[in-house]
Formats: sequence, C-alpha cells, structure tokens
Amino acid sequence: VAKHFLARGQADTLGTYLSTNEEATLAQARAADERIAKGDAAPLLGVPVAHKDIFVTRDFPSTAGSKMLEGYRSPFDATVVRKLAEAGMVTLGKLNCDEFAMGSSNENSAYKPAKNPWDTARIPGGSSGASAVAVAARLAPATTGTDTGGSIRQPASFCGITGIKPTYGRASRYGMIAFASSLDQAGPMARSAEDCALLLSAMCGPDPDRDSTSLDVPPEDFTKSLGNSLEGLRIGVPKEFFGEGLAADVREAIDAALRQYEKLGAKRVEISLPRTELSIPVYYIIAPAEASSNLSRFDGVKFGHRAKQYGDLIDMYKKTRAEGFGDEVKRRIMIGTYVLSHGYYDAYYLQAQKIRRMIADDFKRAFAECDVIAGPVAPTVAWKLGDKSGDPVANYLADIFTLPGSLAGLPGMSVPCGFGEGGLPVGMQLIGNYFQESRLLNAAHRFQ
Ligand code: GLN
Repeated sequence: VAKHFLARGQADTLGTYLSTNEEATLAQARAADERIAKGDAAPLLGVPVAHKDIFVTRDFPSTAGSKMLEGYRSPFDATVVRKLAEAGMVTLGKLNCDEFAMGSSNENSAYKPAKNPWDTARIPGGSSGASAVAVAARLAPATTGTDTGGSIRQPASFCGITGIKPTYGRASRYGMIAFASSLDQAGPMARSAEDCALLLSAMCGPDPDRDSTSLDVPPEDFTKSLGNSLEGLRIGVPKEFFGEGLAADVREAIDAALRQYEKLGAKRVEISLPRTELSIPVYYIIAPAEASSNLSRFDGVKFGHRAKQYGDLIDMYKKTRAEGFGDEVKRRIMIGTYVLSHGYYDAYYLQAQKIRRMIADDFKRAFAECDVIAGPVAPTVAWKLGDKSGDPVANYLADIFTLPGSLAGLPGMSVPCGFGEGGLPVGMQLIGNYFQESRLLNAAHRFQ
C-alpha cells in the first residue's frame, strides 16, 4: 500500500509534496507488516498518512512552506506525528502549505502553489492546501493539517473532502511550527467522517510536559458514537452566515444539506451570532500579534536560514529575515509588532481580546438553543489561481465563517455537501460546543 501511494506521489503534478523519503517510509511499512504478522489489528496499522509541513519530523525536512527553514531537520517528531506513527501509520512525506500557515490559497508557499484537483486552474484553499489535495487526488488516504483560522476546514471544503479541527487544546501543539499559539490546532483530513474519527482518536490526548495548553482530558474513541440517530438533534443556523456575501451556489448546496438533516430527524433552529463580522478584524489583530512574537525566533542564529553577507549582528538579523520571509509573513510581523507596541496595545490588541471574549459568549448563548451549528465554510467555491494573490484583504474577508469558531476555541469541521458553479465542491461547516467532536463526527457520518 505504501509503495502504491509513493508511486502516485512521484507522478503528482498538483504541487502536493515538499519532501519524501522512500527509505524511511518503507522501513515504517515493514515495521507495520511485522506487527500485523503478529496479530496486531490496530485500525490504522499500515495505513499511509502524509503530514502538513508545519509538523516537525525527524525523517523529513520541515520547512513550514518557508525559505527560512529550507532543508531544516528537526531532532524530534511533533507529538501528533509520533502518536500517529505509534498507531502504526506510515508516513509518506511532507505536504506543501502556505508559508507558516498564513494564507487561504496555498499561494503563499515559498516553494510552489498547490492546485485543486477538481480544476487545476483553481486554488485548493489553504493554508493546509496540499493536505486537502493529497486526499482528494488519492495521493494519500489521509493527511494532517493545522487550523488557526480555518486552514483545515476551508481547503477541505474547496477540495470536497472531510476535515475536522478539534477543541483548542485537544491535540498537542508540540512540534507544530507556531503561528498563533492561542488558535493553532492540529486535525485530520480524510475522505469521510469515519476516517477522520479514527485519526482524531489517535492524535488527541494530554501532553502536559510539552504543551502547557494541551487539555487534561483523556483520549476518546471518536468512532464510538458513529451511527447514533439524529432524531431530535437541534441544528442551529446562524442568520449572519447567510447574508449578502454568500454566493448563491454555495447557499443552495447548504440549504439542500439542511433539508437533508431535517429528513434525518434533526430540528432546524434559527440562531444569531451577532459579532460574526467582527471576527475578521479581531483575528487579523490577534493572529499577527502572536505571529510577530513567535517568528522572532527566526533570527539566523539558532536555526534555519542565515544571510551569507552581512556587517554587524543587527545587519545579520535584518538581511536574514528580509531574505528568509515572504511578503505575507512580513506583512503580518509588521501588523503584529504595531498592534503590540506601546501606545497602540490598548487601542488594538486589548480591544481585540475583549471582543474575542464576546464572540465566545455569543456561541455560549447559541449553544443554549442548539446542539450543533451548521452553515457554509466559505462564501464561495474555490477561486482561480492568481485571482486574489495580490490582495491580502480579499483573502482575509473570505475567512469570515471559519474565524468565529476559531476565536472561541470550538471544534469545527467541513463536510462535503454538494457542488456549486463549474461542478466545484461545496463544504458545509458544522461547529460544536467544547468537546463535542463525537457529536460533530456523527452528524457528518449520518449525512455521508
Ligand atoms: N486564512 C487564515 C490566515 O491566513 C487562516 C490560516 C490558518 O488557519 N492557518 O491566517
């Protein structure tokens, strides 16, 4: 099986892989064969997986899609990578993504764009773009992604696959190259909710010595509730998710999905998330603020790129960072530094933190009336490569439906629910209350 997928990866023309290591993959596959021969029947044993290049790995370079980390080798595996390997999964390689996970189209990768297999003139979404491409194009049965403001859900939606971002703190961030630490979460991307449930069960769990924000909740078997009836499930439909900005084809696909849920016994409840629009300015203050701090470690001293020619130490920092970071990363470092600086901190950063809390409170009220929230993942289907690449704000605005859940730390997923214009896939977003991943996965499973 590993050889089959390695060969498919080698023939890839969609810009999917950043690195592979056949020797390491086949060694893992042989080890899985030995466990199987001994009667081990663990469900993921021998199943290939590929990781977003945000996770550090010993056997493969880890670049985060940045020139800053070109060729960088980590001395350890990220916790999520280690856990999936312990479950018997066989790593195929590392997947292309937007630089340091900043982006919505995979076009911010310093190496190459990834292409949407449904229409190769279109973006696959981002930042976990290639993680979605690999599953959709059958280059890997499952992949990992990271989601800070939608980076699992949005590419899953654009490529017609299933992806879930768990409750913040469920999965360890140890070894995930940090973008915005209070938002970053790992999650699986696969063909079905059932496959996602298998992977998520293996990925989650406390990691107290390595990630202080990992939650002290025991690992859960998310496959257990699959198949439960949806009779009486209250599905909240936020009116703010169905405003003017939502394209007609996406709206139709989501409406049809909601009718399907009613046929399955669920009850539709109209709800309101009144601060939905504010999630964009709030996120684009908080995420760059945290990024500006996290990315200060790339200084040419400890690891990664260092400028070849420089004068004094400050000049070395400047040249290294000027050469190593791409435009979007620099933009965010500048915004982040600005909003954290003396005199602007109260006006921007603190204000954003307060509204972040209010956004979480809106969800709290909403979950008093419903069990699961449903709506679109993105306002449109996948756009054409280059269409928004010179326009950061246009990219930011398209994150409107994924950002609120991220800011609140809630679990969210994308479930393929139909096709829009040009036969392009549309994903439905399901958002659950804290720790309600099982409920989300079951709701997706019943739908599929
Ligand atoms: N598109 C968002 C951004 O550019 C989300 C990215 C992510 O979730 N990593 O920040």
